[in-house]
Amino acid sequence: MDCPRCDAPLEAYVLFGREAVACETCGYLGVTVEHRSEPREIESWQAAIDRFRSE
Ligand SMILES: [Zn+2]
Repeated sequence: MDCPRCDAPLEAYVLFGREAVACETCGYLGVTVEHRSEPREIESWQAAIDRFRSE
């Protein structure tokens, strides 16, 4: 899967108990949603990191 913004390869991992994809090149962050195969952008990468560290 490639980044919808810049076509760089996405990193896949688990974030907040969900499967997520992230692009280190442009900061895109998406989560895969049930019933959909397309990742949905949820928030900025930095916001996700901040929230992850606060939990
Ligand atoms: Zn990107």
